[in-house]
Amino acid sequence: MRFASLGSGSSGNCLVAEHGETRVLIDCGLNLTEVERRLARLDLLPGQISAILVTHEHGDHADCVFTFAASHALPVYLTYGTLHSMKGGGKVLDGVKTNLISSKETFQVQDLQIKPFTVPHDAREPVQFVLSDGDKKLGVITDIGMPTPHVEQVLSGLDALVLECNYDLDMLWEGPYPRWLKQRIAGPFGHLDNRQSERLLGALDRSRLKHVVAAHLSQQNNRPDLARAALARALGCSDDWIGLATQEDGFGWRDLT
Ligand SMILES: [Zn+2]
Ligand SMILES: [Zn+2]
Repeated sequence: MRFASLGSGSSGNCLVAEHGETRVLIDCGLNLTEVERRLARLDLLPGQISAILVTHEHGDHADCVFTFAASHALPVYLTYGTLHSMKGGGKVLDGVKTNLISSKETFQVQDLQIKPFTVPHDAREPVQFVLSDGDKKLGVITDIGMPTPHVEQVLSGLDALVLECNYDLDMLWEGPYPRWLKQRIAGPFGHLDNRQSERLLGALDRSRLKHVVAAHLSQQNNRPDLARAALARALGCSDDWIGLATQEDGFGWRDLT
């Protein structure tokens, strides 16, 4: 299995994972032109994608899901709550095959096994995903207000982890956002700050972990060096070993084989 990101942050998220001829997108929150342009950057054509998995209905994850799926005849996998919310937001297009998933059941998209899991976040029925090719496991987790014992258990024993480092607590509180928004972001259904991500990473079984990428960084309330330093502290490694997913470039292919 290998994986890459087309972009990550509050202006749009999209990650691709590949095993053999199976390729899934996790979220599609960039516009159609950008998704196609950035797939080309990774030497992929839209027709090579097998399915789109959706974590939740927020625009930075879901805005282009149905447009892209309709353009390229792709199935979409999402929870009932996410589908319902996207319908309410007028984001669901007729003619796209939707597959309802449950946070309690692992499912298969061709050669990839997908395990959704519940996270605390202010969406209708949000999930995040662990993907497996039967040998290696990749966990992707963004948009979570606080770590839970369930999350720690699901993320233990992974080979690769893409982990939200949304904000630095001091930068958030000293920054320009209105108070209600600061409280939402820092609340139990908002996002992880660098220190929470550091603690979460430190609490996991990391015996197989070969890739860690900091993701969904706020351009307003965080800095790459702070996020990387926090995750490096949890691992006792150098800061530059920690990968970084950026809004513009995401990150290039990382191979798990
Ligand atoms: Zn988000
Ligand atoms: Zn969100």
